[in-house]
Amino acid sequence: MHIDARNLDNNSLIEGDVCIVGAGAAGISMALEFINTNQQVILLEGGGFEPEAAMQELYAAKQTGQRYFPIKAIRLHYFGGTTNHWSGFCSVFDEIDFEKRDWVPHSGWPITRKDLDPFYERAHKIIELGPYEYDDAYWLKQQPSFKPLPVDKKVVWNKIWQFSPPTRFGLKYKDAIMNAKNIHLYTYANVTDIKANENVSAVQEVTIKNLAGKQHRVKAKVFVIACCAVQNARLLLASNQQNPKGLGNDNDLAGRFFMEHLEMKSAELWLAKADALKFYMWNWGTKVRAELAISRAKQNELKILNGTASFLPLDIGKNEPAWIDMYDENGKGDLSKFDEAEKKRDFSNKDIAYQLSTRIEQSPNPNSRVMLDTEKDALGVPRVHFHWELLPLEKISMRKIYETIGQEVGRASAGRVRLMEYLREEKDESWPAATGGGWHHMGTTRMGDDPKQSVTNANCKVHGIDNLYMAGSSNFVTAAAPNPTLTLVALTLRLADHIKRRI
Ligand SMILES: Cc1cc2nc3c(=O)[nH]c(=O)nc-3n(C[C@H](O)[C@H](O)[C@H](O)COP(=O)(O)OP(=O)(O)OC[C@H]3O[C@@H](n4cnc5c(N)ncnc54)[C@H](O)[C@@H]3O)c2cc1C
Repeated sequence: MHIDARNLDNNSLIEGDVCIVGAGAAGISMALEFINTNQQVILLEGGGFEPEAAMQELYAAKQTGQRYFPIKAIRLHYFGGTTNHWSGFCSVFDEIDFEKRDWVPHSGWPITRKDLDPFYERAHKIIELGPYEYDDAYWLKQQPSFKPLPVDKKVVWNKIWQFSPPTRFGLKYKDAIMNAKNIHLYTYANVTDIKANENVSAVQEVTIKNLAGKQHRVKAKVFVIACCAVQNARLLLASNQQNPKGLGNDNDLAGRFFMEHLEMKSAELWLAKADALKFYMWNWGTKVRAELAISRAKQNELKILNGTASFLPLDIGKNEPAWIDMYDENGKGDLSKFDEAEKKRDFSNKDIAYQLSTRIEQSPNPNSRVMLDTEKDALGVPRVHFHWELLPLEKISMRKIYETIGQEVGRASAGRVRLMEYLREEKDESWPAATGGGWHHMGTTRMGDDPKQSVTNANCKVHGIDNLYMAGSSNFVTAAAPNPTLTLVALTLRLADHIKRRI
């Protein structure tokens, strides 16, 4: 069922059992889980069904620290959220990613990979991925043209990736949501405030506003905030009527520990013998491929972060601009230079030289954060002040990943690895101008058992507030190497099961 909140009488009261705020990957996955249950679900989406400049403007942020993509351009503010332009690259987090590593400060999730496994499998169906299978031996058997590099798995292994079509959640699941009798989708329903009771132990209602000047209230038993990692933190911080620090922020942690994946060109691989490396190649339509990853034993020995290396023929890779240069200062993106390079890719070519690009987790850092700015948006909500900060561990780890891969391919006489200039000098902690992320936002309401160290508990519930849950990658404690959406959908399905049990 769909209602445009601009058409309701001003100051309407909307009531239900479960209120989900945000209809992107997390919010839609959550709503799908409740279809045909006896719960009345209110799904609040800030935007409509199409992109609108005025909606994007609500995301505009002050940005400081490490140069970053314009926040207002990269997260999309309408039904389907940022999946309206995501690329569909998916892989699972490794066991080590959930563990406490003594060389990675603030690491260690309150759940394990095993806890998430059944939900990863369910998430595969929503994201339209292939079989829940990440063992390279399985895929090498399926596809005889796949030939792995002769690396020692104890040091470097083939991490499997699967690719979504990519599923546009807003298009794929619109009918299911609209036709469900117990799901009440409200568009143009921007949550601007979460109102708690007097002792801030439970949420009573949320306020929704739109640019048409209407304002309404929504009451429910349980509230799930699924607005993406930056906006999740903003909403908690801006909801400060009952507690001036904001909700879930007694220990000044909401918004801190923002994490990205560093995704950048890092080295060249020169093979001893030209090869098409089909097992490692990607193009639109590819279902499965591998990236080289560093074993847990080697990560432990070198005390480095988890990261992988992807491949692109060097003559294409070296001509592609850095991702970070894709947007102009007004936040307008230009993909044409990438499209040109993509079209030139020919899988049958046997190349001698390949560009290696890193995908690496950012070390959790309390100073890398989302704060509130003094300026307000058109709905009266303080804008985001976004501050991205990197640490030396990321640079050290990146260098060691390529040294390790170089040693491995050299040992096997398969080729040589040449580090890019910025990685050659061991003591150099600076970052080149091309430094950038993968458009992945994580960690701003991190999970944990200890309220002094985290914002949400192992069930994604905000510590100390009985009926307030956060959905999405804001819960991530560490970022792992893979892109976040498969893991955030899995975590959301786990949360949906928890809420169903609870209600
Ligand atoms: C160019 C690009 C490529 C990407 N490629 C990949 C990839 O290959 N693999 C991968 O795993 N990830 C990728 N991502 C990241 C992926 O898009 C996100 O991880 C995912 O969309 C996050 O889901 P979400 O539901 O948390 O947030 P979103 O998808 O952003 O959804 C949030 C929703 O909440 C709504 N909302 C926000 N604030 C409010 C409010 N106050 N009130 C009501 N509603 C609100 C928004 O309108 C939106 O619909 C990519 C991102 C970009 C930008």
